[in-house]
Amino acid sequence: MTQLLEPDTAGAPVSFGDLEIGEIALDLDDQDPEDVIAWGLETFGDRIAIVTALQKDGMAILDMAVKIKPDVRVITVDTGRLPQETYAFVDEAREHYPQTRWEVLFPDASEVEAMVQRRGVNLFRNSVEERMLCCQIRKVRPLVKALRGLDAWFTGLRRDQWASRAAIQKVQLDHDHEGIVKINALADWEGDEVDAYLEANGVPVHPLYAQGYTSIGCAPCTRPIESGENDRAGRWWWETGAPKECGIHCPIETGSFEHEAEAIFAAAERKHQQ
Ligand code: SF4
Repeated sequence: MTQLLEPDTAGAPVSFGDLEIGEIALDLDDQDPEDVIAWGLETFGDRIAIVTALQKDGMAILDMAVKIKPDVRVITVDTGRLPQETYAFVDEAREHYPQTRWEVLFPDASEVEAMVQRRGVNLFRNSVEERMLCCQIRKVRPLVKALRGLDAWFTGLRRDQWASRAAIQKVQLDHDHEGIVKINALADWEGDEVDAYLEANGVPVHPLYAQGYTSIGCAPCTRPIESGENDRAGRWWWETGAPKECGIHCPIETGSFEHEAEAIFAAAERKHQQ
């Protein structure tokens, strides 16, 4: 089902320093998303990929990129806890953009096994730290490994989504991921602009939006929002005072669970060596 790439065979590496990327960011900040995406594709070739959970913003980025580079690379993570609708929608998106090259990432099975044995299958209900631990193992770690093979990535982040995203640039160095370039081409768009783009361009939309969802992640951690709630309010809705982030877009400490993560990684490593 999945066409896999060898990331380190995708061309010569391209990197930028802080000053250089700052100047580029200034130039691109008032450009349309399509122009920002074109810059990314032209600059990084096959060493850039769209990283998406197939939400509306990611689909808009994908549609814009395909119009410039039909075989653009797309990376998504199957955490093992996704809604059935997402699995079906991955196939729909791939069929809609038949030349795109998809990489579906999976968490390390031994790490998931060790985590579930130690904390239970639904550990994310116990505490914010355990939720972040689950996100680390099921989502962040597979993505971090994939990002190591890239020089840049496209995200669907927007400034209006949550306080933790209010200061993002359209182009920035991602110091959380070895200084590769992160391109947030929709940074200054609002939700209704994304909706208008999707409709005008006949872009497929994840079916859960029609059921009141406004942000879509794992099945047990996402619900439709109530009237007047922020678009990301349906993510980990039982938590209070915690960022609506999994940890891939901003560093999140698992606090007292650092040692628990280490124990899980050690158990997984022992399993790998058996
Ligand atoms: Fe685990 Fe929930 Fe995070 Fe998915 S969203 S990785 S199930 S805590």
